Amino acid sequence: MSKPWPSLLLLLLVSAVGAAPARAATPIDDFTVVLDPGHGGSDFGAIHKEGKVTFSEKEAVLGLAKEAKRQLEKKGYPVLLTRDRDADIALNARTAIANRARAKIFISIHMNSLPRGQAEGIETYLLNSTTDGTSKRLAELENKGLDPTQGNKLTSETEVNLILKDMVLDSNLSESKRLACVLQTHLTELTKQKTRGVKQAMFVVLLGADMPSTLVEAGFVTSERDRKLITSEHGVRAMAAAIVRAVEQFRNSSGKDSARQELGRCLVSDH
Ligand SMILES: [Zn+2]
Repeated sequence: MSKPWPSLLLLLLVSAVGAAPARAATPIDDFTVVLDPGHGGSDFGAIHKEGKVTFSEKEAVLGLAKEAKRQLEKKGYPVLLTRDRDADIALNARTAIANRARAKIFISIHMNSLPRGQAEGIETYLLNSTTDGTSKRLAELENKGLDPTQGNKLTSETEVNLILKDMVLDSNLSESKRLACVLQTHLTELTKQKTRGVKQAMFVVLLGADMPSTLVEAGFVTSERDRKLITSEHGVRAMAAAIVRAVEQFRNSSGKDSARQELGRCLVSDH
């Protein structure tokens, strides 16, 4: 009786050597994108009042997410929105939608606010437990939907989960960073808005994501220029087109040398 092992070993060796080192890009119809328009329902997010008119973050980011979904679907991408109407959705429910759908990327869309300042422009965030004052203030604003009984405070249980999650995060971190970088680049290039860079903050909404994830602050509700951009037809189309370009570039360069180059060019500041 001949022993099967040597030939099996040879077969394994041959297949290992023959394996192509570069991964082919995931087909478009398998590259599910989850877009997360921040806030909703009783949570307005940041607001700006001018006379009787109230501009709310929750409405503006929903408009942008819907337009980005439309444009991505036109290209063939399956897209899910965490909300497609004005509704309260808990932060952990948002990533749960993405995890269930085995989404390839999760993009949370928000707007910033600085009532007494001239701040304007776009910034994109990675999840990190930073202690920097500015990012912390912003994270507190965005983390409000965490638990209605806790206001904007993090529970100790959440903080423990955060530390545990930190270890899991490492595997997705460089891909999340790459996603944030391409998003920030295309958004500012297409809209000619001021770039405020790629930054890091502790955003609870990104915590539960099993896939590369990022959070974009698509302008300031307190900036007239930024409000006009996200509410004008051409502005919202340009921003959505930038999201499409970012998704395309991210998908096409995954696992390739160009991905490492993109990452090398991207500067991430601590705040
Ligand atoms: Zn927000």
